Amino acid sequence: MSADYYEILGVPRDASADQVKKAYRKLAMKHHPDVSDAPDAAEKFKQIQEAYEVLHDPQKRSIYDRGGDPMGSGAGGMGGFGFPGGAGFDMGDLFGAMFGQASSRGPRSRVRRGQDALVRLALTLAEASFGATKPITVDTAVICPSCHGSGSKDGTQPVQCTTCHGQGDVTTVQRSFLGDIRTVQPCPNCRGYGTIIQHPCGECSGEGRVRSTRTINVKIPPGVSTGNRVHLDSQGEVGPGGGPAGDLYVEITVLPHETFKRQGDDLEMVVRLPMTAAALGTDIDLATLEAEREGVTPEDAHVRVHVPAGTQSGTRLVVAGRGVPRLRGGGRGDLGVTLLVQTPKHLDDAQRDLLRQLAELRGETRTEVSVDRARKGVFDRIKDAFTG
Ligand SMILES: [Zn+2]
Ligand SMILES: [Zn+2]
Repeated sequence: MSADYYEILGVPRDASADQVKKAYRKLAMKHHPDVSDAPDAAEKFKQIQEAYEVLHDPQKRSIYDRGGDPMGSGAGGMGGFGFPGGAGFDMGDLFGAMFGQASSRGPRSRVRRGQDALVRLALTLAEASFGATKPITVDTAVICPSCHGSGSKDGTQPVQCTTCHGQGDVTTVQRSFLGDIRTVQPCPNCRGYGTIIQHPCGECSGEGRVRSTRTINVKIPPGVSTGNRVHLDSQGEVGPGGGPAGDLYVEITVLPHETFKRQGDDLEMVVRLPMTAAALGTDIDLATLEAEREGVTPEDAHVRVHVPAGTQSGTRLVVAGRGVPRLRGGGRGDLGVTLLVQTPKHLDDAQRDLLRQLAELRGETRTEVSVDRARKGVFDRIKDAFTG
């Protein structure tokens, strides 16, 4: 395979013509031998030009994407698919189907793009919220290290198929009273490739790729949530014949947290506080989700929340900007703190006396209650905070 043109230009495989052009201009300006004094500037500039020449031309790019040689002799003839196997079509090969060359003739390429791969990754709420770099183990096909994708044993080449003489398909003619009926079918001897690998590579049995487990570090952006996928270009399956690798998708699952619950970009927590504190007012210190991050500053690890005197159970206090960073666009959500006022359960004699005195002072010795109108509020909020 030739160099990875996408990598050279630093654009994704689905880059638009405009993206390709912009990337090329930027790089060409930087690496032009007249400008750059790097010793390999000329070579680099040549590579950039070559990559651009292929990727900005839809026809050449399509050939390249399918593993062909877009600069090879004959490209441009036969409607631009003059390289051997350019018209490759394989039932069930989605990539071939996308370029729908079903009606074209000629041997098909052994080289095809690999499939995308998907791996799942579980993150703690803190990792998902603030971003992380996580190692993941992927098991995909990689290019065969022994034959570098050719499928042939060292120093050997595939030979032309004698059945179809390298055409990849065979024509049978049936005579009928209406005339000759010609049927074109893929050559059964070479399965349409036009060539036969006589000495298959021992390591990959001629496939050009082998399975391999490797570990890669994935950078997770802040603010992801369950179901989000991180896209890694060309880290998927290498294709048959050592074809370009598909992409890798890492699907995120966020594990539940014992204190915080995420609602959109907000974090919610429930705090219980004594009846006396709610009545008199107080300041409380709360550990934030950030406390679980490495290298967090003490200011970020804690938040001080003021509870005003006379706070009712179910009150939700809002700490602005201490929620989850937004995945798109800057800023952060809020931290919601729902307060549950605890009524004391076990009172000793002295405490009971004091409370009775308090009741007398407040004129509350005869219990009077007021009944609320049914309304959405406190009730639902507490319920939501606990169950969601
Ligand atoms: Zn091999
Ligand atoms: Zn054949």
